[in-house]
Amino acid sequence: MGRLFGTNGVRGVANRDLTPGMVVKLASSAGSILGNRVALGRDGRTSSFLFKEAAISGLLSVGCSVFDLGVVPTPVLQYATKYFNLDGGLMITASHNPPEFNGVKVVAGDGVEVPQPVEEKIEEVYFKGGPEPASWDRVGDVKELHAFEPYCRSILSNIELEAVREAGLKVALDPGNGVATLVAPRIAQELGCKVYTVNADIDGTFPSRDSEPRPDNLKDLSALVQATGADLGVAFDGDADRAIFVDEKGGIYWGDVSFALVVKEFLKKHPGEAVATPVSSSKIIMDVVEEGGGSLLWTRVGSVTVSRTMVEKSIKLGGEENGGVMYTPHQPVRDGSMAMALIIEAIAKNGEPISKLFNELLRYRQMKAKVSCPEYLKSRVMERLESSIEGKHIEKIDGVKLWYQDGSWILIRPSGTEPAIRLYAEAREEVRVSKLVENVKKNIEEIISKLNL
Ligand code: MG
Repeated sequence: MGRLFGTNGVRGVANRDLTPGMVVKLASSAGSILGNRVALGRDGRTSSFLFKEAAISGLLSVGCSVFDLGVVPTPVLQYATKYFNLDGGLMITASHNPPEFNGVKVVAGDGVEVPQPVEEKIEEVYFKGGPEPASWDRVGDVKELHAFEPYCRSILSNIELEAVREAGLKVALDPGNGVATLVAPRIAQELGCKVYTVNADIDGTFPSRDSEPRPDNLKDLSALVQATGADLGVAFDGDADRAIFVDEKGGIYWGDVSFALVVKEFLKKHPGEAVATPVSSSKIIMDVVEEGGGSLLWTRVGSVTVSRTMVEKSIKLGGEENGGVMYTPHQPVRDGSMAMALIIEAIAKNGEPISKLFNELLRYRQMKAKVSCPEYLKSRVMERLESSIEGKHIEKIDGVKLWYQDGSWILIRPSGTEPAIRLYAEAREEVRVSKLVENVKKNIEEIISKLNL
């Protein structure tokens, strides 16, 4: 049987890899598995209305009631699904992918993306030609649903409002022409902040920057922070589930550092709690968890795995290096606006500039690399590699992670999307981290050339 779902929903180039016909069949298949009451939302991409209409047709054809949320961030769709006790939800979005892409995220009744066994059930129905349609008198109906109010209230209820409002901070926001513009400025205002925005009109062609916020494409935001004298800058990805931060001097930080600050503040309020993060995250997360007296649970890479683990083990906080923060008291899924609110609260409560708070956490140098490796060799390369590195401290949660005496580490994982093996490494010194990557790269290349003989 073929696979439809990737690591985070179904994705492809609109009208080429992903057609309206496919979305009709996917939505009817999902509807037949999820239940009768299904939430539906879409992002601002040029093809999202097209696919939303296709999803409605599919859902109605199997007798589902569709609760149409309109244009919303993915976290709003997820929050609404649980808040209104619906059986599941579909979100039309390709998250941070380029504008020609689109996709469908399928959410269970608890607001978290469905686990893999449910994806497989949906795929089974899909590849058998779709579910049995409902008779003419049993087709579903569409109701409009508004969720911004309870969603924003939930975020605000998890923040110490008085302290934050008193601080009267200035924040600069860059939704990147995505749907964060619908909630983030409003939440920041409710937090007593003076708000400045850039790239804040929804435009599915993403004319200003890539939909994925990265340190190399946030010059607009960095300039806005400096021009306005803002205390903080926040950039969101296309569907607003991830946030990347800029300090008051215009310096841009990757998600590890901002998540470490969230963890630090969280453990002050909730001593002894557990925190979940993928094995690819910085050691800084481990450091702040230890310093704060909490416990750390490493998970496999991927936001859905982190969220599902958090639900299973009742963990309140999780996060990823790409700017995803999951906060269970609000909801255990990535939420860019929640992450923003927690960082604003951290500045207000510490009464110190964000550059100082972040710089205390900038302890390690990171490096990522990849080695080309044909698909059919991946598992044998990984096996050989494991046997050649015996004796050191090794973790095998996802790929192979080697820890060294001095606290540096390297993670080696076969890529799920490319014919390559990925390397992630971290050490205190630049020289050390590049040496680590260089050595392991050489080792893998030798294994590949021997296997290829
Ligand atoms: Mg996203």
